[in-house]
Amino acid sequence: MISVLPTFADIAFPTAVRQPFTYKLPQELQEQAGVGKRVWVPLQKHKAVGMVVNIHHEKPDFNTRPVEQVLDEESIVSDEILQLTKWMHRFYYCGWGEVIQAALPHGLNFSSEEHLEVGMEQLPAHLNEKQVEIVRQIKEKESYPLKEAEKRWGDGIIDQLVRQKVLGIWEKPIQKTAPKTEKLWMWTDLSSVEEARDLVSQYKENDNFYKWVQALEVLTETELPEFQKDLTSHSLLEYYTLQRISEENLITFEEVERNNLSIRYEYSPDQLHTLNEEQQQAFTQITSVLDKGEFGSFLLYGVTGSGKTEVYIHALKRALEQGKGGLVLVPEISLTPQIVERFYQIFGDEIAVLHSRLTNRERYDAWRSLQQGEKSIAIGARSAVFAPVPNLGIIIIDEEHDASYKQEDPAPRYHGRDVAIMRAHINDATVVMGSATPSMVSLQGSRTGKSKLLTLAERPLDSTMPEVQVLDLKQYRSAMRGPIAVPLYQATKEALAEDEQAIFLYNRRGFSSYLQCQHCGEIPGCPNCSVSLTFHKSKKQLRCHYCGYSQRQPRQCSECGHEVVTAQGSGTQQLEEQITELFPHAETLRMDFDTTSGKNAHANILNAFGRKEADILVGTQIVGKGLDFPDVTVVGVIDADTELAFPSFRSGERMYQLLSQVAGRSGRAEKEGKVFFQTWQPDHPAIQKAQKHDYEAFAEQELDQRKQLQYPPFSRIIRFIFKGKKERRVQQVAQVFTESLIKVLGQSGPVLGPSPAAIGKMQNYYRWETFIKIKPGNGAGAIEKLIDDVFDDYDEHKPQGGSSVRINVNVDALE
Ligand code: ADP
Ligand code: ZN
Repeated sequence: MISVLPTFADIAFPTAVRQPFTYKLPQELQEQAGVGKRVWVPLQKHKAVGMVVNIHHEKPDFNTRPVEQVLDEESIVSDEILQLTKWMHRFYYCGWGEVIQAALPHGLNFSSEEHLEVGMEQLPAHLNEKQVEIVRQIKEKESYPLKEAEKRWGDGIIDQLVRQKVLGIWEKPIQKTAPKTEKLWMWTDLSSVEEARDLVSQYKENDNFYKWVQALEVLTETELPEFQKDLTSHSLLEYYTLQRISEENLITFEEVERNNLSIRYEYSPDQLHTLNEEQQQAFTQITSVLDKGEFGSFLLYGVTGSGKTEVYIHALKRALEQGKGGLVLVPEISLTPQIVERFYQIFGDEIAVLHSRLTNRERYDAWRSLQQGEKSIAIGARSAVFAPVPNLGIIIIDEEHDASYKQEDPAPRYHGRDVAIMRAHINDATVVMGSATPSMVSLQGSRTGKSKLLTLAERPLDSTMPEVQVLDLKQYRSAMRGPIAVPLYQATKEALAEDEQAIFLYNRRGFSSYLQCQHCGEIPGCPNCSVSLTFHKSKKQLRCHYCGYSQRQPRQCSECGHEVVTAQGSGTQQLEEQITELFPHAETLRMDFDTTSGKNAHANILNAFGRKEADILVGTQIVGKGLDFPDVTVVGVIDADTELAFPSFRSGERMYQLLSQVAGRSGRAEKEGKVFFQTWQPDHPAIQKAQKHDYEAFAEQELDQRKQLQYPPFSRIIRFIFKGKKERRVQQVAQVFTESLIKVLGQSGPVLGPSPAAIGKMQNYYRWETFIKIKPGNGAGAIEKLIDDVFDDYDEHKPQGGSSVRINVNVDALE
């Protein structure tokens, strides 16, 4: 649409600048330009790629610069995703462009490259021979990538030419990944097959049987159109033979996009089970909303093995039958190959898998196949929430409580579950969140009517929940075999003798140090916030990273009077060695961050363990997730309390989730399983309730405490993080900013801090934090206004040098 009115485009950039900028849209670009397309524009002293988010005729009261180039033929961001990212930009207080960037597969990212061009017609006389030659070559190519030029001729000489203005540096946009095309061969027209047959028989009669004619005969019996790659798998059909035939005007080709995804599982749709009564009830409720095409949200609560996945599959199938698409979110897909496989069995090639370990090419292909409508189901981890699923009807969020749904760094610091719910709203779609241990937020949501609770209380294959023994480390202090107490040692020995398997879990969290009494296990906590205190060694201080409370490093344990020392956990590797020593005849596998960095490392370790190539699996909390091994009968948690040492209001919830997931790992088939929790705090509610598999009792207690202390879900926590290289400056900015917070917030919520972050220094940046708690009902509009006001006030009082300190905003921070 070409307008005679001056036309403007609002353009978002992938930077921390929150608001889009307005540019002039020249007449000659108006037809080509559109919302959701990328453009090339001047930005400050450079040029940059930006995304058009709005086109309008409202002339701004400043001078606008023109859009230089439209980079996409078709929109790459749909209206739906634009709406979603706009909401995120406001709610999570980040740049709109930043969110759009996160929503696109890597291959479409905004990117540019510097190029050299010859800047003058008449070369100055003083250039030497080499310089003249360089200029000649660059001129010949019109432009030359700067990096390549520097590599080829050296930075010095290039720099000289640039300074003399013989060469100029220009930025050019680059598309990192373009759709991959392949030749699709077809008959030229309807009668070509007949002609081909005639031709073949003529040549046959003449006894003059060329290779290309033989190939043509093969083609007459092949179903065309067909991709070149598939044709050339026949030995007679080589590329040049096809070319030769096309010279006869019988066949021709088109360049067509073709996606090839690397994951292949078995496809056996008959694996669909008939739902049992409980599952059927849940299914009926879900479909009552799904069938109407309305927004609706369900919390499917059922222990591991209760058949949640089966319900997801049935609901998804229903959506597909209605011509809708589905989105399945799982925690981190490489950790849960089994669930992908289950979906694949039923839906086969309808599924596009998106996960962090795909190459850019693979991710782009998967994304593209959805966008083109070739596939209707996306399955993936957090960022798959943006997958361009066509006609989205249902969103499934498995293990909805999982912390990996929250992106912490970099921005956008969004929660995948909450974004999914908003996306469902926008699309009038149905959301099903499943968990054996729902998050307190989702549980409370089901109580306040935000979602509907569906419960699966029984396991369809009537395996019983395993018996859990709590081993009090105080009591077993003198009865340890290396890292494990005698009863766990005995049980493992017996299991191994029966050719069964064992898993040892050693919980690791990246955090700064804490103190723990080596006699009674006590971890000092904050008197105000009920979280553990962080130990700052250099200052010999204990501090609360929420409220800033501090005390001197105590000499004695406040519980038992013994000397307090820094807890020093041994790593998994050391644990593996100790376990190997204890069970010299057993094969041991280790699974932790170090052993799982390769592309298929997770799956390989799990598969090897599944094939019983090892008897014992030692690993961090990642072994706790989504696994199902029939021969595992012993599971030992070496240090059940580690989670509690992490200074967070959620540490109890996390600990319960971890323990109950681990407990669900053992004895899932016919064999009875045993689970052991080693702990210093046998009376902790998370341990007690996980032992009895009593989520509800745990949740009651936990919600009660959250309510008293005004933690989520009874508040919304926003964390402000201040980062900089000079600690004093960071502290000063944190102080001034916190004063602005107090001023703006007034009575509407407490401000905690500033205080040093739990991890006070990271990559040479000092970190301070301030938390605020606001009412949980605050939405995007309220949050955006509040934080805008705070920044306005802060800008008025900003201390000198304050700009060197970065201020990050984390809405709904998990810790
Ligand atoms: P969850 O997702 O809650 O952990 P699953 O859906 O994986 O549970 O179900 C656990 C096991 O029970 C799986 O092996 C599944 O095939 C089986 N199962 C689930 N529902 C049924 C059913 N209605 N009939 C028979 N087997 C079922
Ligand atoms: Zn505190």
